[in-house]
Amino acid sequence: SFDSIYAAFLDRVEHHPDKPAVELPHGGYITYHDVLTDAQRIAHLLTQAGVKPGDRVVCQVKKSVRAVAAYLAVLQIGGIYVPLNTAYTGVELQYFLDDAEPAAVVVDPADTAGVRDMIPSAAIFTLDGVGNGTLSACETKLTAHVAVTAADPAAILYTSGTTGRSKGAVLTHGNLASNCQALLEAWEFTGDDRLIHALPIFHIHGLFVAINMSLTAGATMLWMNELDVDGIIDRFANATVLMGVPTFYTRLLASNRLTPKAVANMRLFVSGSAPLLSADFEAFYERTGHHILERYGMTETGINTTNPCRGERRPGSVGQPLRGIEVAVVDATTGEPLSDGQVGSIEVRGPNVFDRYWRNPEKTREEKRDNGFFITGDQGFYDTEGYLHISGRSKDMIISGGYNVYPKEVEQLLDEHPLIAESAVIGVPDADLGEGVLAVVVARNGQAPDATELTGMLSDQLARYKQPRAYRVVEQLPRNVMGKVQKAQLREQFAEVFA
Ligand code: ATP
Ligand code: MG
Repeated sequence: SFDSIYAAFLDRVEHHPDKPAVELPHGGYITYHDVLTDAQRIAHLLTQAGVKPGDRVVCQVKKSVRAVAAYLAVLQIGGIYVPLNTAYTGVELQYFLDDAEPAAVVVDPADTAGVRDMIPSAAIFTLDGVGNGTLSACETKLTAHVAVTAADPAAILYTSGTTGRSKGAVLTHGNLASNCQALLEAWEFTGDDRLIHALPIFHIHGLFVAINMSLTAGATMLWMNELDVDGIIDRFANATVLMGVPTFYTRLLASNRLTPKAVANMRLFVSGSAPLLSADFEAFYERTGHHILERYGMTETGINTTNPCRGERRPGSVGQPLRGIEVAVVDATTGEPLSDGQVGSIEVRGPNVFDRYWRNPEKTREEKRDNGFFITGDQGFYDTEGYLHISGRSKDMIISGGYNVYPKEVEQLLDEHPLIAESAVIGVPDADLGEGVLAVVVARNGQAPDATELTGMLSDQLARYKQPRAYRVVEQLPRNVMGKVQKAQLREQFAEVFA
């Protein structure tokens, strides 16, 4: 057991300094000892620049192993690591810099001038996608590390901004360490594992799930700078675990190289960050003999529930709470627990739950109950076997003519139609009903079924108020890089349908 990610990483370095921590995309590898040395050099640079315990260090850089060393360096000196999505520019970036007020910023060399103007008070370092820049130009190492307690902040991660403006979640060393250990145990992840790492590293999934687990278990990451289906399949023979967002699996299924033989060495496929299509879960099993393990988490909490490593993995379900974490489904207004099958507000309590929203006490009060439960903003229900099912986000729930419609229930039925690849059910303004139910569908082979047929299909499966009043066909659903469907964008696009 360990109290901090950094301490556990140091322990692994001592245990096997020469073991590859990372295998590079084009051959070669970086050992545990080398990653530590790199982190210690960066720690020296940051300290020289005046970064002190509790100071924020913003990193908005392309994916590279040196960016991982920068993360470890910030932990080493007791700083607060603040990774930013590389897509943010201009006013967005200004917002995050004003909010985080970092003592140091690490950016791509091309972005320095702009960033210097945005935050003149910070030290600016550069790092490009192959690890070059001012962050690599140091020979001196800082070997000492700052002692931290479980309650000290380790990072501020901004939420994805799916439902509104991104919020900074303050995560403590205890949050990161406890969730990492619960996951290592649940997924039986050890130093023998070889993890294909093809996720971005500014988000909790690629950073705190994948990297923390791998470096504290003493495992090896097979590093990829971007999602490349052939590259993933090429690595299967030398890997044991893949962590991906649902898009990974949709794309893998489109390759005829995905065969039982290709995955013979793999032991585990994990999916999260957005709902996995049940059709993909089934198809993946047919093609490979593997049931994808779906789990559920978020920036503010890390991972809350997971399907089991051994035992039944249920399609459409995100599994059961991790050890030490309470996940309750309650009535949103009273906070009273609901019974199996009833849809309610999903709330979480445990050592994984973030400390607070950065500089936003009001928001923290709104989302954290006095009894310690965090209101996730998601809705769902437990089935009789104790598996949690996500019904959608509270903000996406449709209230039509006074009745609640949970999008997922309708989407699942639509997705069963052989001509439909996937769907998004949304509520748009309707003079009569307040909100009208609209289904946006993607055709499987170019030809979508018509509205009459779909209405017929749903009529004996859904109460009338839940049935879409109109259908729109789109080429593809708008998604962000983590595979999250941008429903707010769809609501805007189709705002006039019932007007
Ligand atoms: P914001 O909070 O800024 O609106 P966000 O909630 O998308 O953005 P994240 O913390 O990146 O930001 O995402 C967490 C959310 O992702 C969860 O609250 C949930 O809605 C969704 N999610 C994660 N895993 C799953 C899953 N397996 N199935 C369904 N939804 C999931
Ligand atoms: Mg959220």
